[in-house]
Amino acid sequence: MSFEYAPAPESRAIVDIKSSYGLFINGDFTESQDGKPFKTVSPASEEVLAEVTEAGPADVDKAVRAARRAYDRTWSKLSGRDRAKYLYRIARIVQERSRELAVLESLDNGKPIRESRDVDVPLVAAHFFYYAGWADKLEYAGFGPDPQPLGVAGQVIPWNFPLLMLAWKIAPALAAGNTVILKPAETTPLTALAFAEICQQADLPPGVVNIITGAGDTGRALVEHHGVDKVAFTGSTEVGRAIAKSVAGSNKKVTLELGGKAANVIFEDAPVDQAVEGIINGIFFNQGHVCCAGSRLLVQESVYDEVLARLKRRMSTLRVGDPLDKNTDIGAINSAMQLAKIRELSQIGEDEGAERWSPACELPEHGYWFPPTIFTGVSQAHRIAREEIFGPVLSVLTFRTPAEAVEKANNTPFGLSAGVWTEKGSRILWMANQLRAGVVWANTCNRFDPTSPFGGYKESGYGREGGRHGLEGYLAH
Ligand code: NDP
Repeated sequence: MSFEYAPAPESRAIVDIKSSYGLFINGDFTESQDGKPFKTVSPASEEVLAEVTEAGPADVDKAVRAARRAYDRTWSKLSGRDRAKYLYRIARIVQERSRELAVLESLDNGKPIRESRDVDVPLVAAHFFYYAGWADKLEYAGFGPDPQPLGVAGQVIPWNFPLLMLAWKIAPALAAGNTVILKPAETTPLTALAFAEICQQADLPPGVVNIITGAGDTGRALVEHHGVDKVAFTGSTEVGRAIAKSVAGSNKKVTLELGGKAANVIFEDAPVDQAVEGIINGIFFNQGHVCCAGSRLLVQESVYDEVLARLKRRMSTLRVGDPLDKNTDIGAINSAMQLAKIRELSQIGEDEGAERWSPACELPEHGYWFPPTIFTGVSQAHRIAREEIFGPVLSVLTFRTPAEAVEKANNTPFGLSAGVWTEKGSRILWMANQLRAGVVWANTCNRFDPTSPFGGYKESGYGREGGRHGLEGYLAH
């Protein structure tokens, strides 16, 4: 049984959302030259939170010129030690403003406050602290005795971890001595704009960080701009492919962090209760809007009934609802568009013959919601076993032998992450060797750390973010 909890909403009073925002270029919030306003809404209520600016080509050009000037005149001339001071300062301000940032993230993105407060924002600070430590030690990073920055980086990020993806992009770029123009996703611009204020608060020299809001066209104009030396993108494989094409033949360096369809492999000797928690965390963390979500569950046939029964029981205790309530496990789907995509793929799952199950749960009337869902009787050919659904939807498959588990896990066009649950250390190492995935978690799932590199194989992209490896994409050597 599950106990009833009294509502425990986090107060919104800590955030001060302005009615409208300009573009953050050269250290100031400026009016757009050729853009137009658009609204950002709370996906949990459809309430308009603020009006932001869609940057046009002239705005993009202005931002790139500001970043170039800042690179030539200031940032590339500073010592690593001085760059580190700014990064440490940013990290400390993120910590000081952590509650505000967490509430703002949950409002604009729809993710539970428990996650933005305990995962996203602490990791944002951790990334700035970590890369601050590298700024004066680049010659020891393993990329030659005197690695140099690339220049101006154009960075485009998605909506699933808005502030965390910003940190993954901006912290290593600045530590390595580059300046940046970052475009947040259309549906989640507010924490990037709050970060712009943090740059002001930290007295970061003007133009070192520029934040331009907008949609796909703004992103395209940024990555195609001839003044950009480095493109860093996280998002869908489709857009990643378009970006790779558009920069082919130029001198731009590119890193792409794209989709995934990770296998979470449960062996019969796995500690079942922990594994069930791992399955839950793997697919329902952040509503399943996670590129490394464990969205394909592979269970050894001998424990299938037990695992499934316990999984269903655990799913029945998940609380779906107000992202600002501290008891909420699953928040709102980020946008109407994403909800439509999840619904469509789930319908396809049923049409192709898989069996759909969700616990009884009441969804709020307004906003975008989808219940935690599993599909059983899924075969490898089903679209729900092959395509990234990017929602709280799990496809369950079975296997008999370790070799079959490996074959099924690797049978995907993606290769970002995988999970292995077993008591045997030797099997973990064997699996990690066999699995064609950038990250393999053993007896845990969706764990992130700034010291650990992250990135994919095949259609999951190329290049690594995080750790010492994350510096490489921002250095010429
Ligand atoms: P996109 O790949 O379209 O968006 C990622 C970022 O790129 C956004 O900032 C987007 O702007 C921008 N963008 C869009 N088109 C271009 C372009 N041609 N050139 C440069 N930048 C561009 O993802 P979506 O938000 O449309 O989501 C679609 C699907 O992608 C999801 O359903 C999910 O399956 C997958 N996805 C995967 C992610 C991952 O981390 N693996 C992250 C996000 C999505 P804008 O916000 O305005 O569209």
